[in-house]
Amino acid sequence: MPIAADLQGRLAVYDAPGRPFEIRLFPVREPRAGEVLVKIRMSTICRSDIHSWRGHRPNPCPGVLGHEIIGNIVALGAGITHDMRGEPLAPGDRITWSEYFIPGPSYFTEVLDLPQKSPGVDKYGHMAATTEPHHHGGFGEYCYVLPQSWILKLPADLTDEEATPVNCGVATMVCATERAEIVLGDAVVVQGLGLLGLYGAALAKGRGARLVIGLDTVPARREMAAKFGVDHVLDPAALGEDALVGEVRALCGADGADAVLEVCGYPEVVSAGIRYLRTGGRYVLAGVVNPGSFVNIDVNLILRRLVTLRGVHNYHPRNLVEALDFVHANRGRYPFHELVDGKYRLEEVGRAMQDAEARRVLRAAIVP
Ligand SMILES: [Zn+2]
Repeated sequence: MPIAADLQGRLAVYDAPGRPFEIRLFPVREPRAGEVLVKIRMSTICRSDIHSWRGHRPNPCPGVLGHEIIGNIVALGAGITHDMRGEPLAPGDRITWSEYFIPGPSYFTEVLDLPQKSPGVDKYGHMAATTEPHHHGGFGEYCYVLPQSWILKLPADLTDEEATPVNCGVATMVCATERAEIVLGDAVVVQGLGLLGLYGAALAKGRGARLVIGLDTVPARREMAAKFGVDHVLDPAALGEDALVGEVRALCGADGADAVLEVCGYPEVVSAGIRYLRTGGRYVLAGVVNPGSFVNIDVNLILRRLVTLRGVHNYHPRNLVEALDFVHANRGRYPFHELVDGKYRLEEVGRAMQDAEARRVLRAAIVP
């Protein structure tokens, strides 16, 4: 069906960091070659959306945020016929897609196998609303899936709540648990039990961890953790660093944790995190996404204890397939739908952002 020449779509935009969101109309055109026009079903607020809105990291304005998005295909541009798994695509199909897109082949993609770090990579919800084709963020009615994105058709029995966080939260944690090399019998510590931490715990168990210890200062999060595979929770605010290190290491047995995942975004937890590890353990940073995240650590400990320190940012496209399949296969085992615990209309993005920022909700969803 052709797109009407005068079709417009609503976007929730903000003019400067911290400014209120306003609904504005922008034109919707036919998708060009390599693009897909999608009618958004749901978009969830990621912590990085809040950092962008608050100006903790650079984001062009007037901004349209939101990168955890799912929607139904309205029209396919020339050349787009199948998803990344080879399934045929048609108007009406419900899809997810990578949170980023790349300019094309490059040394990073072809040789280093790091497409997520290609020069010129850009992300949904990270461009000015005035930049054509305007609809490239989640807080709106329409979104163009742009060329060199990775698309996946969603299984019919997966709910929108289960499917929406797959392309950022889940895929990032698939990558983080892969980089942490979690294997059968491991003891894993998760610093931060927000959405990333809870998915991380479930994924660690999926990779064979025998023990997952979760740390968070928010009581509601510690209570929820058991449902997602966390065996022990501790409140880092209730214990000094030495006591916390002692408790974690005692729970892990042997020489300490095999792997530690930082997903809380506070650089000051890194020094304790490294002390949880056994000799030869792995530490993965996935939460400290803001520039200027400085920390004082005794690097001699890393050297002497043969610790591996790794960063994870974005994810490899294969992690998107793994993320979707993990959520689909384990939806009976873990109540993933409970993680999206607040729903807001497009006009309520401001309130949703405030609730998410104050941690009154785990994952706020915008349903246009
Ligand atoms: Zn995100």
